[in-house]
Amino acid sequence: MVKTREKVLGYGIDLVSFNDALLRVDESIKNKSGMQIITINPEMISQGHSIPEMNEILNSAELVIPDGIGIKIALKLKGVEQERIAGVEFAKKIVELCEKNGYKIALLGAKEEILNKTAENLKKEFPMLQIVYARNGYFSKDEELQIKEDIKNAAPDVVFTALGAPKQEIFNKEMKQLLPESVFIGIGGSFDVWSGVVQRAPEIWQKTGMEWLYRTIKEPQRFKRIFPALPLFLIKVIMEVRKEK
Ligand code: UDP
Repeated sequence: MVKTREKVLGYGIDLVSFNDALLRVDESIKNKSGMQIITINPEMISQGHSIPEMNEILNSAELVIPDGIGIKIALKLKGVEQERIAGVEFAKKIVELCEKNGYKIALLGAKEEILNKTAENLKKEFPMLQIVYARNGYFSKDEELQIKEDIKNAAPDVVFTALGAPKQEIFNKEMKQLLPESVFIGIGGSFDVWSGVVQRAPEIWQKTGMEWLYRTIKEPQRFKRIFPALPLFLIKVIMEVRKEK
């Protein structure tokens, strides 16, 4: 039997191709089955180990796609060859799918001007796209209640949440209870990229799995977040593989 999921440090990751993952999203929207998508990376796995809510979310998400080079290496250490599915690219394909099939979308996250520019750029690229809700990602607890109510009333088929992890995953999980038939995806800094404010690494860096290094050079404050998390994560995976043998 072909394995469709592999566990890394306790959390299942879907072994899917980019296109199959996209098909699953389309099916979920068509069948109104509801779906929370996680674009998992080593940081989120460590959040799962320390934040009970994140632990529950990582265990219950319907689709967990392997984002980030750390996950690709971890799977390789476990003997699985898996293509990396960059969340920012995958989410863009979902936007395209939504335009093509007339699905409605909501955008939540990033700073006001970035959010506006993102919506403007998406409208340019996908003229028939129905954006039924768009709001920046800076709000109080009281405002959050209103945001949830507004998103519920807008009834989007897909909600793109760009608040950073684990905030976006927790928001999506709670929101899914109010809109159980919709698809939810947390996409971190994707609006910064879609707005044109942040550039992705040139293709050669992406292809060689070095995008993280490029981003770290461009945004040195990321260094503190990524290191020592990445090597530590890989050491834990190596220990897990040894135990399983
Ligand atoms: N953000 C937000 N509200 C917050 C905190 C963060 O909307 O309270 C946004 C922030 O502006 C950025 C994104 O969330 O657009 C997080 O990006 P980051 O690069 O940290 O996420 P990553 O891709 O590393 O998960």
